[in-house]
Amino acid sequence: MHDLHIHLGGAVPSSVLWEILCDNGLRTEYVDFNSFHASLTAKPDEVKSLDDFLGRYFQVTEEIQSSPSAASVSAYQVVAKAYRRARVQSLELRFNPQKRMRHGLHTMDAIILAVMQGLERASLHYGVATGIILSLGRDLPLEANWQIIDAAVKWKSRGSLNGANGVVGIDMAGPESRSLELSKPWMSEVAAMMEKARDAGLKITYHVGESEGTGPEGMLRVLETVRPDRIGHGIELRKAEGKQRERIISILKEHDICLELCPTVNRVTRVVPDFACVGDFVRTLAKEGIAYCINTDNPYLVHTNLRHEHEIVGRELGADADPLLALGISHAERHRFLLP
Ligand SMILES: [Zn+2]
Repeated sequence: MHDLHIHLGGAVPSSVLWEILCDNGLRTEYVDFNSFHASLTAKPDEVKSLDDFLGRYFQVTEEIQSSPSAASVSAYQVVAKAYRRARVQSLELRFNPQKRMRHGLHTMDAIILAVMQGLERASLHYGVATGIILSLGRDLPLEANWQIIDAAVKWKSRGSLNGANGVVGIDMAGPESRSLELSKPWMSEVAAMMEKARDAGLKITYHVGESEGTGPEGMLRVLETVRPDRIGHGIELRKAEGKQRERIISILKEHDICLELCPTVNRVTRVVPDFACVGDFVRTLAKEGIAYCINTDNPYLVHTNLRHEHEIVGRELGADADPLLALGISHAERHRFLLP
């Protein structure tokens, strides 16, 4: 199995983060491990939306991961846990380096190098193929996002070493509620950034259609202007109708763009009312001939793993589970950014 959509900020066990926090003497509101662990467990009845989810947990985890040593240990532990829990064979880890520089105390180069070294150790120790996807942030100034693009080009993968690939792609992430994808000037600047990355040989994925903030219209704008290799989520395609639906499906098929599905997080952030919707969506994608793969997104925050995500979808697919889950795995193999 392959996890192509997993965030450093949501995939590190709380025990590891707690040890980093204590070792670094960071001053926080948490008085002991139990209160810290509870605060990093997303409870579906407490999370109000995607924005709430991102704001509630990521600030804490990103702050703790904001040093080269913390970033390296965190990256290592993500892969180790994914392998032990779900025998993951390849993992593309995404993170935003700007959010781990402790307000300029560390350089972006130092953070990226540290994550690369953590993944090199993990690939060697666990035999998992790894790659890095650098996430831009909708909540960052354009200038800061350009700096991430320049860093990605600088640190671009030179090939696989013991399964570790270094930086293989670029992503756009962050709150969808401001609907920035519907703003033409913003979108064209982002398209220029993505083009620079693509020209340097990097692949592109893009969080969009994860909530009604961007919705099917945001998906369409991204597909038309950026033409990513993969889409993060795209679950809002369920709500598209008429000509808009036809156009989205036609671009996805014509350019063989893969949707990265992440069922449990969509449920926790109330983007889908139940898992039956995800099962129906997988059936629709398979029928339309659109590529999809199943991923964890933030496995630690929502206490899941890749095997569990497959089981959840499999239960909804019933008799179709085996062929449709196998199809998703074959799509993941074909759409991986890293070298096998
Ligand atoms: Zn995500």
